[in-house]
Amino acid sequence: MNVETLLVHPNCGEGDGHGGDPFRASAPPIYLSATYDQETPLAFGRYDYSRGGNPTREVLEKQLAILEGAERAFAYPSGVAALDGLATFLRPGDEVLASADLYGGTFRLFTQVWSKRGIVVKYADVTDVSRVSSLITSKTRMMHVEPLGNPMQTVCDIAGLAKVARERGVLMTVDNTSLTPLNIKPLELGAHVVMHSATKYLNGHSDVMAGVLALREKAMIEELGFHHNAEGVALPPFECAMMLRGMETMALRIARQQESAMAVAKYLAGRKDVARVLYVGLEGHGGREVHRSQSRGDGAVLSFTTGSVERSVAIVQRLKLFAIRVSFGSVSSSVSMPASMSHKSVPAELRERYAPPADLMRLSIGIEDCGDLIADLERAMVG
Ligand SMILES: *Cc1c(COP(=O)(O)O)cnc(C)c1O
Repeated sequence: MNVETLLVHPNCGEGDGHGGDPFRASAPPIYLSATYDQETPLAFGRYDYSRGGNPTREVLEKQLAILEGAERAFAYPSGVAALDGLATFLRPGDEVLASADLYGGTFRLFTQVWSKRGIVVKYADVTDVSRVSSLITSKTRMMHVEPLGNPMQTVCDIAGLAKVARERGVLMTVDNTSLTPLNIKPLELGAHVVMHSATKYLNGHSDVMAGVLALREKAMIEELGFHHNAEGVALPPFECAMMLRGMETMALRIARQQESAMAVAKYLAGRKDVARVLYVGLEGHGGREVHRSQSRGDGAVLSFTTGSVERSVAIVQRLKLFAIRVSFGSVSSSVSMPASMSHKSVPAELRERYAPPADLMRLSIGIEDCGDLIADLERAMVG
């Protein structure tokens, strides 16, 4: 079945489709209980303590695993908590080869937190698979990439990188936040672990913070499951139910958002006072061919520059429908200037080459009427 169908049938194929709920509830019940009573001191029931297992979380995690083509998924209280979960597979002295075009908070975690645990992260341009291969050393344990970088819209070849990683005994981890399993399924392309900030498109309504790790291999599932419980980093039940609710409309939301993103990108590309438009769906984008070979859609985030920081700031301030906010992926549109907002943690040595330029504006396209969005941009641009 396609993702569109699975999204509104959680745990399709699981028993009677109600996740074992005795009342056949149409929406998953929220089990707030922290503990579950045993019948005897020697016999454990299916659940004993919610840190290690909770019925509401189980519905969500099963649904996430199905969507990503994984054997098991784990829900975390944020995207960065999920990213930190990847350190389960690392030991002091290990090296990580990471894309130089990553989410700002990922840089912060890798360079300011993991470094304290003796993990060395090296950043590379991952658009060139053979170059990446030449950078792998005997210490490289993990490769971490995003299939479509944000806000710079760099594309990397997930299957090509996964092949190199597997040949060299390196774990390949993919942050699938910006494209979602609706567009690309990294595990099917050879990645070992797929990660999400579910705060973005999976939830889609800016009212839950959550993260996901999904994977296939049994030994890794066991090790990660052990850490998920031992470190107490599971998503609480209310948030799990909110996530399930948000995900039901993900296919509809993203179809509309991607269609509007393309229209907005074309509108901006047609303006003489716009210096550059970065959107992988536009003809002439260098990564478009690789992207289209691995992704069903082009995403709904795009960036543009004007050549002048003052002009960009003025445009952002004149926009009415685009709220000025970090983050993306919500039903309502937003605008940000990553250089001074979400990407302040780009390491100094990468800043010149990879950091978003100071005049760059990033738009996250929501589900509003597209004509209204373009009219708002037009008004702000004309000033
Ligand atoms: C937001 C984001 C994260 C971090 O997720 P949080 O839910 O904010 O902790 C990681 N990766 C990407 C690509 C993101 O956009």
